[in-house]
Amino acid sequence: MCDHSRPTVPDPDVELEETLRRLTFVRQTSLSTGYERSDKNTAGLSDSQTPGQSPRKGLRSRSFSHDSYKSSMQQQDMNGHISTASAEHHTKMTNGADPRPITSNGVAAAEVNEDEIVDEMASQYKQIITHLGEDPTRQGLLKTPQRAAKAMMFFTKGYKENIAEILNDAIFDEDHDEIVLVKDIEMFSLCEHHLVPFMGKVHIGYLPNNKILGLSKLARIVEVYSRRLQVQERLTKQIAVAITEAVQPAGVGVVVEACHMCMVMRGVQKLNSKTITSTMLGVFRDDPKTREEFLALALAK
Ligand SMILES: [Zn+2]
Repeated sequence: MCDHSRPTVPDPDVELEETLRRLTFVRQTSLSTGYERSDKNTAGLSDSQTPGQSPRKGLRSRSFSHDSYKSSMQQQDMNGHISTASAEHHTKMTNGADPRPITSNGVAAAEVNEDEIVDEMASQYKQIITHLGEDPTRQGLLKTPQRAAKAMMFFTKGYKENIAEILNDAIFDEDHDEIVLVKDIEMFSLCEHHLVPFMGKVHIGYLPNNKILGLSKLARIVEVYSRRLQVQERLTKQIAVAITEAVQPAGVGVVVEACHMCMVMRGVQKLNSKTITSTMLGVFRDDPKTREEFLALALAK
């Protein structure tokens, strides 16, 4: 039977949680530095905003402190865990390497001949059809195993795609400090528990910090991660992490609204029920006003 002896594939959830902890930590450290600075400079911009001071003013001072900590990082003269965490991040970005879940899977898939995989999967689909009590040699089913195998490869083509490569030429310097929002990005994925589709819409917002992403790339990020075996929660987080790692924004918010065929077709839920997940990083996590502004824009019909 099938034995391609693939390299061990890392658990995407374990790695994702580590990355999220790192990002949340870096962001919060950077934010608290920003608050200290603005306390000294503008007197009293803190968690409770002084009347008349918009949250945006707070964000600018945070961006400033983020910059200064980045340049300190390049000089490698910073002490403590801030530089450790961000230096690690810096290395990852300049390597052009993706976080491990992507590359390791991508490499694993690329090393094995794709035609061989399709042929092997086809023979396994043929067995499945037989197990269902069908005759895989009847005319209508004759080519089904091969078609099903190819379809499955397409539905999971995200394993072969590399976020860093895709985003490489689409990161621009831009002094834009309002929320960038792209909503209703169509998403089709496969539930990893049942290998049945779930589909819906993704809304992405981020607050740039001197760098922006080409708008079409947000949809590409959704595509790369949704074309894998997924759970909606992980998909949501992976999109947020990818944007954070690409342009180090002041904050990111991702909302995914999806309909799961494993629920609908098995009759567990009503036909039109939606599952909504969200991930908030940076100021979208820490500043309620920014989060509310994003959610209002994202979920407005
Ligand atoms: Zn499912």
